[in-house]
Amino acid sequence: CKASLDVERTSHGSTDTQVHGLSETVVGVLGGGQLGRMLCEAASQMAIKVIVLDPMENCPASAICHYHMVGSYDYSATVEEFAKRCGVLTVEIEHVDAATLEKLEQQGVDCQPKASTIRIIQDKYLQKVHFSRHSIPLPEFMQINDLESAKKAGDLFGYPLMIKSKRLAYDGRGNAVAKSIEELSSAVNALGGYGRGLYVEKWAPFVKELSVIVARGRDNSILCYPVVETIHRENICLIVKSPANISWKILKLATDVACKAVSSLEGAGVFAVELFLTADGQVLLNEVAPRPHNSGHHTIEACFTSQFEQHLRAVVGLPLGDPSMKTPAAIMYNILGEDEGEPGFLLSNQLIGRALSIPGASVHWYDKPEMRKQRKMGHITIVGPSMGIVESRLQFMLREEIVDGQPA
Ligand code: ATP
Ligand code: MG
Ligand code: MG
Repeated sequence: CKASLDVERTSHGSTDTQVHGLSETVVGVLGGGQLGRMLCEAASQMAIKVIVLDPMENCPASAICHYHMVGSYDYSATVEEFAKRCGVLTVEIEHVDAATLEKLEQQGVDCQPKASTIRIIQDKYLQKVHFSRHSIPLPEFMQINDLESAKKAGDLFGYPLMIKSKRLAYDGRGNAVAKSIEELSSAVNALGGYGRGLYVEKWAPFVKELSVIVARGRDNSILCYPVVETIHRENICLIVKSPANISWKILKLATDVACKAVSSLEGAGVFAVELFLTADGQVLLNEVAPRPHNSGHHTIEACFTSQFEQHLRAVVGLPLGDPSMKTPAAIMYNILGEDEGEPGFLLSNQLIGRALSIPGASVHWYDKPEMRKQRKMGHITIVGPSMGIVESRLQFMLREEIVDGQPA
């Protein structure tokens, strides 16, 4: 593989072709955040080379990837330069330059998942249009361009009304809720105005949020991880429970919707399908991520094949691994940044200190250069012989930090 030789020369000044891991393909990842870092951790076990493109010199993946190119994954020339070094190009974030990926694909660069998938997913409105065309159940939605169309949406869908920006959304930072017609303008302004590109969704009166990680190999084989429950606070994922406590019927429905959604997209890799479960037993799609996802972090300790290993297997063309759980129950807890400065570190340190003494708990720290409020700084996964036991271990771990959602 020419790309793999190039990297050998650039990083080690050698052209050794004898020593290979489970795959000769050099995996190039656009983005070097915590997902990129955990991809590198999984790659290390299989001696697969992962190189990363990220603008931040000390991004989480930088310390452990094979090679880090410092540069923007949203800048065409940089992505093209990076692609020359890769056998396969993949992403840990969907907010990358899709037009460049399309151009590279035409030139023969192997992008997994496909550029078309990134293009659809990175625009949440386009994503909704795509899935509704494929008859995937989802909350009603409508584009808004001005106050008049926003009011029309409010009349049609009622309140509260979920307003979302089409692009560059993550961790709820592109969502605003208007509880009444009077709040429409302030919610729109909070998102940067109509010019940013907005659409609205009918409020989904969910009783639970679910997620399914779906893996697709290069041979189009598909495997699903067990359905999990995700618990969000202020639009950010805080807790993931695996398996979700749902009936067999809902489990099957959620898995079917997730598989159908992923089948409508192109390319290999893991995909996370976020779902709403309503009181009357409907499963509606919220959104899809074309990459490893926060709702799959527990798979590192809880499943035979982690989502990160699975993604690598998928994109380089190895057989997919067993996604089933090897432990009866798991809970993942996100360590979210407090305000900058000591209190955040203090709380995290106390939390981590206790986690280290809990049976079945594993601490992951992403080594981000700065703490910021609500930023994902790390996570803790607790596994155990039953959900009841894992829940009580979580309660023990959180006992001083969180009382009804507020620091004690
Ligand atoms: P992520 O970090 O998962 O990418 P995001 O910024 O893309 O998040 P969404 O997934 O669209 O945001 O929404 C975040 C959360 O807001 C959801 O998990 C859910 O709790 C809530 N939410 C989103 N859409 C709706 C809706 N139509 N009705 C009710 N709640 C919603
Ligand atoms: Mg999202
Ligand atoms: Mg989401």
